[in-house]
This record gives sequence, C-alpha cells and structure tokens, in this order.
Amino acid sequence: MPYPAPLEALIDQLRVLPGVGRRSAQRMAFQLLERDRPQAQALAEGLLNALEKISNCEQCQTLTEETVCEICSDPGRDSTALCIVASPTDQWALEATGTYRGRYFVLHGQLSPIDGVTPEDLAIPALVERLQHHPVEEVIVATNATVEGEATAHYLAEALRPLGVRVTRLAQGVPLGGELELVDARTNPPAMAEINRRGWDIDEGMVLVAGDQLYYGSDAIHALSLMSSRSGLFNRLNYWLFRSKGRARFFYPILRACRGLLLKLMGVSRINNLQVSGRDRF
Ligand SMILES: [Zn+2]
Repeated sequence: MPYPAPLEALIDQLRVLPGVGRRSAQRMAFQLLERDRPQAQALAEGLLNALEKISNCEQCQTLTEETVCEICSDPGRDSTALCIVASPTDQWALEATGTYRGRYFVLHGQLSPIDGVTPEDLAIPALVERLQHHPVEEVIVATNATVEGEATAHYLAEALRPLGVRVTRLAQGVPLGGELELVDARTNPPAMAEINRRGWDIDEGMVLVAGDQLYYGSDAIHALSLMSSRSGLFNRLNYWLFRSKGRARFFYPILRACRGLLLKLMGVSRINNLQVSGRDRF
C-alpha cells in the first residue's frame, strides 16, 4: 500500500536536510504526524517565520534579521580585516572561538566546476565591489580544507590581486576545533621527521602544527597571533606585533634573541635537530 500523497511529499521534503536519507525521513514524518502534532505545527510555523524574517546582510551576506547584521554594524570590530567564509555556519564557528575581531564576508558556497558553481554564484563580484568601496588591509580566506575550498581560495587570491589587498589563507581546519600544537622537539614528536626534511632548525625558530599545516619561525607566530585569544595583555601585544606578516618578520628575530638568551641563562642545551656540528650550545 503506497503512502498517502501528502505524507510521501513530506518524506521527500525532509530529505533535503543534511544527512537525512529516506528511512530517517520516514521516521521523522511519522513522529510528527502520529505522536507530536502540536510540535509539528510549531515546527511548520517556525520554519515559515524564519523564512520570512531572516535574510542576508547587505554588507557581508550572513543570515540576519536586520538589513545590516550585528557584526557589520558593530563599531568595535576591526574594519581593516575581512575574513571570507563559505557559510554562516563557518562564521559562527569562528566567532565561537572568540579570537577574531575583524569583519566577515560569507560566500554561501565554494567554487565547484563539476557542480556548476561559478564565481557569480558565490557573490564574488559583490565581494570585489565591497572591497572597492570599503578597502581593507588584509583579507583572510577561511574556506574549507577541501578541493573546492582550495580552489575558492586560489581564485580569490587572483581575483583580489588587482585591488592590492594582502590575501592570507587561514590555517586549514583550525577555527573548526582543529588541534593547535607547538612542537616540543625534546619529546621527539611525529612532526620532527617532516621538520628535518624541510631543513628547519628548531633551535632558531618555533614550529606550529595546525591540522596538517606546519608553520616555522615568524610564520608560526603570525599564525598563532591570528588564532589565539585576544584577552590578556600578552596576547593582545602578541596580536598587535604579529598579525601583520611583515611586522612578524621584523620583530621575530628580537623575540628569538630573547628566547635564546633565556635558554642560555637556564643552561638548556640546543636540540640541533639538523645535526650541524658546533651548534649544540646557545
Ligand atoms: Zn553583515
């Protein structure tokens, strides 16, 4: 016996939800119609209400109840940095870390030639226009660590080049609960083999592992400054000093010299991971 047509239609509609196959959709439909009709009514009304009241922010395209969202209209946000994310979900994940104080632009998708997703579908022309009218110092591309995310990041770097804006790529996966780890070479961690392969002298600079990305020296501290908490004087100073890559390169040797001196005073021997002779004391 086939299901009544409206029930069949509901099952089909529930399947648009991510991760919901036919069986789950059937279970949901029966739950709503059989056992929980008041809740089903509330759900339908909630959906209509959200559809009516929530639209895209005029400036950043995120979901909002206002014409311009809370972040875009907050004068306390740093207007020199613009972070580009694939979806409002990614934006909220980044916000939840409390580490980023700039503004956003939401693409609502990532480039995918196979699925026919083009730059026009992603509001990239609107992004270029926004940057022409409201220039920023740095664009941080935080698209996902997938083929589509990489393609999008690459396309953006090219598309924004004529604007003369600095474009950086946020470490893969980091804002979405990825693990950050400073390599402690004395415990001989798995990353050491890769560090040695790259010829990085760990006595001369720290290495940061973020997801499957490795950063060394001033790049590590620049990446850390973008990712770490901005509370507390040290973190704020660190952010100010190193959020610009150029400034990170300039100040890093000073920081490194202080660290070297400190380790020397403490009588710590060098790790000499590259096994260069005569380099085993600070
Ligand atoms: Zn906005």
